[in-house]
Amino acid sequence: MATTAIYPGSFDPITMGHIDIATRAAAIFDQVILAVYDTPAKSLIFSTPERVAMAEQAVAGVSNLEVQPYTGLTVDFAQRVGAKVIVRGLRAVSDFEVETQMALMNRRLAPGIEVVCLVTNLQYSFLSASLIKEVIKLGGPAQGLVPDFVAEALRQRFVERGEAAPVPRWLTS
Ligand code: ADP
Repeated sequence: MATTAIYPGSFDPITMGHIDIATRAAAIFDQVILAVYDTPAKSLIFSTPERVAMAEQAVAGVSNLEVQPYTGLTVDFAQRVGAKVIVRGLRAVSDFEVETQMALMNRRLAPGIEVVCLVTNLQYSFLSASLIKEVIKLGGPAQGLVPDFVAEALRQRFVERGEAAPVPRWLTS
């Protein structure tokens, strides 16, 4: 029987670390749905349709990987799409703590669903969506950490919001 897995998260925006986990999950499971959580507790820089569109563009080359938005409990979404597996990425010990807590709660809510954690690739182990937002907001480079079109969308969003860091005077004079 074909195994479907979901890879849930905020993806605000999608990074190379996310793409790496999603692609590796797609090499293990028959079908993977990258599930974009509509209403995370954190403040978002991109709307749900924007996060979905960027994730779709980023994983377009992987045939058994699709992107869908969802609201409500992750386990409910998993059951709705017939997924028995929730994939998560692990970077540091701090992730392990959070992921274990969440996995135990999810098992209580839906005992039939297994959480599978994939360990990050070393070059993305320090990478998080919030850190990349900070770097780009302050005018730093993001090559190799997010797709170029994501970096561009972030830069544009910070300019629109009037939050882009001004170019330092010593650079212009
Ligand atoms: P959340 O909103 O739960 O923090 P994110 O959208 O930030 O989720 O990330 C979704 C999943 O991807 C989480 O399991 C997170 O640990 C994982 N992840 C995020 N960045 C990386 C990375 N650089 N390498 C591996 N996994 C990552």
